[in-house]
Amino acid sequence: VTAEGPLEAHTAPGAGAVRAALFDLDGTLYRPEDYPEYFRSMDLVTGERVRALYGAASAREGFERLEADRIRQGLPSKSAALQVLHGISLSDMNRWRERHTRPEDHLRRDPRLGATLQGLSERILLGIGTNNAPGLARRILAALGLGPELFAFVQTSEDCGAAKPELRFFEAACERFGLPPQAVLSVGDTPAQDLEPAARLGMPVLLVRAMADVYRLHEVPPEAWRG
Ligand SMILES: [Mg+2]
Repeated sequence: VTAEGPLEAHTAPGAGAVRAALFDLDGTLYRPEDYPEYFRSMDLVTGERVRALYGAASAREGFERLEADRIRQGLPSKSAALQVLHGISLSDMNRWRERHTRPEDHLRRDPRLGATLQGLSERILLGIGTNNAPGLARRILAALGLGPELFAFVQTSEDCGAAKPELRFFEAACERFGLPPQAVLSVGDTPAQDLEPAARLGMPVLLVRAMADVYRLHEVPPEAWRG
């Protein structure tokens, strides 16, 4: 499902309208094509840890070996593989990321995004759902100029106890909104992480391929939002 058509087309017939939107953060509310250096720095911070674990020649090789181990052991996520196979808890990894990543050195305020989300928040509930570290999620939102008042919650895999693409992550978000999955739109840039698991629960989904896909959310006709 993409942002091409009208949003209501993605809602199952008879399911009622969207009353909340769960936004992924990285790649969804700010894009790699606008901040290539920052995305590289994020990959390097996690990648260096994974590279060292495997004694690999590169971060990429480390990630490939981690992913192969993850699949072999039938584990649901990379963070679960780090925990089970290497004894690195998600909170260890997140403190590492928070210490070594500097969103405030890269990201800029995005007034158009702020206005879009402000307008949406007057009609529906908004939440953030991310596998990023809690401290980084807060700093990224602040750097983009998005105040905490816009969001009903910021849910991270660390505080949820489940990581995308686990279904439990999306169930927890719907519970926090107090809404059935059919009423919560999942907005994200990575289909396998953000959209496919959400759709399995019955959530409508929207793929973000450029900031324009987010900016145009406020153009959705008001009747699509009615509960
Ligand atoms: Mg993303």
